[in-house]
Amino acid sequence: MKVLVYSTHSFDRPYLEKAAQGIHQLHFVEDALDKDSAKLSTGYDVVSVFSNDDVSEGVLKILHQNNIRFVALRSAGYNHVDLNAAKNLNIRVANVPEYSPYSVAEHAVAMLMALNRKLYFSQLLFQLQDFRLDPLVGFDVHKKTVGIIGTGKIGTAFARIMKGFGCTLLAYDIKENPDALVLGVQYVSLDDLLSNSDIISIHCPLNSSTYHLLSEKKFSKIKKGSILINTARGAVIDTSALIKAIESEQISGACLDVYEFEKGLYFNDKRNKVITDDLFLKLKSFPNVLLTAHQAFLTKEALQNIATTTIQNMTEWEKYGKSSNDLW
Ligand code: NAD
Repeated sequence: MKVLVYSTHSFDRPYLEKAAQGIHQLHFVEDALDKDSAKLSTGYDVVSVFSNDDVSEGVLKILHQNNIRFVALRSAGYNHVDLNAAKNLNIRVANVPEYSPYSVAEHAVAMLMALNRKLYFSQLLFQLQDFRLDPLVGFDVHKKTVGIIGTGKIGTAFARIMKGFGCTLLAYDIKENPDALVLGVQYVSLDDLLSNSDIISIHCPLNSSTYHLLSEKKFSKIKKGSILINTARGAVIDTSALIKAIESEQISGACLDVYEFEKGLYFNDKRNKVITDDLFLKLKSFPNVLLTAHQAFLTKEALQNIATTTIQNMTEWEKYGKSSNDLW
């Protein structure tokens, strides 16, 4: 099939090319899918998109006019897709439900340790040949209480690592995961998790039930001085409320791989560009906030698995009219 791959990056192209060899013809563009770039899909059988592409109703209608009936997501999250509209237009959408929960869980831990042990700041001082230790005091993670919001594949991988640190594990989820229970995770209400955890890590999807799950009211329940990690989706947190919680020292730090308004910002080269998003600039200015630009998934193993499953989804759709990872 002829496939138009949107939001191509040099990090994923070689994996997709290798996975598609001899099966599908891939054409790569750097443009994210949106109302303008959707017009490029003329003459293709399938399009493939990434996590910040716009797969809203208006965009799907243009794809439909161009006879696209299958959208292959190269992500696990599908909060950027209007699934109802896709269904009404008879456009099948498939995701990559599992590519490496370890990639994201390990990044969450890396961020926690980098912030806690002040590794970024210590490198800056080191390069200046300032070898004093005074501003670099961290804390033992051992024996701390870790609260995990969402104990699916990634949350459970994160729980397994934190168990290795010797932490007490609390969790909040709409359903209990036996794999998490085996690790000794104790399920509690969201309020109990927030008020008892020294470290809180978010691993639930973004949907109508989790949008702004951490609101101003919820931040007021958080144990004073705890650290918040978000590698899930930015809008699970009300960013304005987060900023207030940092300013009031309700939380002592945040590790954020995702940001509520990252679309159009992350995955792009913004050097020499004036960024006008005040919330983002404020977060970037805090010394106790560590930001990465949605890179938690970025391991060789994850890229390999994303490519293999994406191509497999397309092949199944071509053969059977649906794939095993269809979202409707
Ligand atoms: P998963 O489906 O295996 O697990 C999600 C868990 O969240 C499930 O246990 C589910 O019951 C729970 N959940 C759903 N609604 C909830 C609610 N209202 N309150 C509490 N828990 C709720 O998904 P996963 O593979 O573990 O991925 C989790 C999320 O991580 C994805 O949806 C995606 O948004 C994000 N993600 C981020 C990156 C990254 O690079 N930063 C990469 C992959 C995935």
